[in-house]
Amino acid sequence: MTFTVHGLPVSQGIAIGHAHLVSRALLEVSHYHVAEKHVDDEVARLDTSVAAVRKELAALKDTAASSQAHGEVGAFVDLQLIMLADPLLVDAARRLIQERRCNAEWAMVQQMEHLVAQFEQIEDSYLRERKADVVQVVERVVKDLVGHPGHLPPRRRDGLGTIIVAHDLSPADTIGFRDHNIAGFLTDIGGPTSHTAIVARTLGIPAVVGLHRFRDLVEEDELIIIDGTIGIVIVDPDESIVEEYRLRRTELEVKRSRLKLLRDTPSNTLDGHPVALLGNIEGPSDAAQIKAVNADGVGLYRTEFLFMGREDLPTEDEQFEAYRAVVKALAGRPVTIRTFDVGADKMLSLPQHRQETNPALGLRAVRFSLSEPQMFRTQLRALLRASAYGKLRIMIPMISHVQELEQALAMIEQAREELRADRHKFDENIEIGAMIEVPAAALAIGMFRNRVSFLSIGTNDLIQYTLAIDRTDDAVVHLYDPLHPAVLRLIAGTIQSGTRLGMSVSVCGEMAGDPAYTRLLLGMGLREFSMHPANVLEIKQQVLHADCTELAPRVQRILRLDEPARVHEAVQKLAG
Ligand code: PEP
Ligand code: MG
Repeated sequence: MTFTVHGLPVSQGIAIGHAHLVSRALLEVSHYHVAEKHVDDEVARLDTSVAAVRKELAALKDTAASSQAHGEVGAFVDLQLIMLADPLLVDAARRLIQERRCNAEWAMVQQMEHLVAQFEQIEDSYLRERKADVVQVVERVVKDLVGHPGHLPPRRRDGLGTIIVAHDLSPADTIGFRDHNIAGFLTDIGGPTSHTAIVARTLGIPAVVGLHRFRDLVEEDELIIIDGTIGIVIVDPDESIVEEYRLRRTELEVKRSRLKLLRDTPSNTLDGHPVALLGNIEGPSDAAQIKAVNADGVGLYRTEFLFMGREDLPTEDEQFEAYRAVVKALAGRPVTIRTFDVGADKMLSLPQHRQETNPALGLRAVRFSLSEPQMFRTQLRALLRASAYGKLRIMIPMISHVQELEQALAMIEQAREELRADRHKFDENIEIGAMIEVPAAALAIGMFRNRVSFLSIGTNDLIQYTLAIDRTDDAVVHLYDPLHPAVLRLIAGTIQSGTRLGMSVSVCGEMAGDPAYTRLLLGMGLREFSMHPANVLEIKQQVLHADCTELAPRVQRILRLDEPARVHEAVQKLAG
């Protein structure tokens, strides 16, 4: 039966494909059939996870041996190890993969349910309660499997792609789908500037989030249309609707190819101001997109993605290779690399990452880096070494106190001295910059003077922290307002004061890539925008038709308005 739902449009475009249900909630796993040719790989995937859990349990037993709870823990670990070796569990799951082509998670959970049902028949209450151990050990295996995704369901014969439907997706999950012919993303929760949404946009894949209980309403394989521009999702559409959306998709492609004509046009306003248009990237492979649109460089390289979705840390050499690859690909154009911004919605799978009550206000970005000096030092050394190959700039995220900046700068200095002693080459004149993401930094710009040479406004966080709205929470998304008078004054103040104090100022949050705000930002005096490469040409089109001399006084008037409705109206008029 056809039905339509509305959500938050977070990544433009139209997708037509088949649903693939994914979940990170343990034991509520994805169910699909693996292709015949991938059956052996799937069995191997199960075996690898079982071996990993065996190791994990053995380590647990060793740790327990030195503690008081030795006896109890040892007994329960032994029991789980026995269950893991029991043919009724793993062997049976293997057979489900081989004979019925179930994916490994599904096979384990089916077998667990079968065993739990048997335990429930047992009269002896002690033995009956042992079903909890079966569940626990299966949970451990499933958790490991989920962290190591296998082959996605095979491509459909109708040539349509796969639409990932999940309750929630972490940014690391989303980026993990990069090479998998994914047509779209749909999630029950999330906001437009959550990192999952940002990754979807960088990948150029249509996405709608904040769909509430949508995942429970769809079935695996069902046909789905996503309109990522307006946030509509149509399930099980009839042929005439599919045809209509095919047509719309073609129209969008035509519009995009027209924009391509602007690729080599210099980005100057009507009154002759050059405006730098740079791209945001998440990894070396995104550098190709920067070149495809001939952007002026990279304004934000989010390096934390190099650290996510893995159990170990990238080494100095691994990081150096990744940074150097981008710097070399950009052949002399600036590459602004942000030191890892982990925490909040970008947690690492490391023991250091404890559960926090308020992760967005906790140990994230530079705070985390300073609390892990070894990890930070490794990254700084890799960045400096890569600076020998082009124009690399280092950017520190989320500074709120001058001490943080001083400490980070001291660590950079220390890394330089080490490299000099080790006779490593690096750019002695490397530029260091800071992100303005919290109101405290925007209001106290003076603290950056003579300490950094450039500032970049992270509007996504600046809005979140100014308005006290969790950017990943769809329940408060209606309050997330880039045009709130307080936000606009902070942005305009940063551009004005930063420039006056001799620092260059850019915007690298989502506002920079939204054509509705281009004239507003130009009128505030902004001359450097960094955004998803896919938006560069659309923003260039805006720049080419803008006249800063005419915009500046109009924007000054908007900045004096206190009524949100009037601000919205005025900005709409400004955008034309
Ligand atoms: C921002 O906060 O605007 C920003 C660019 O950083 P991120 O989105 O990665 O937090
Ligand atoms: Mg940020």
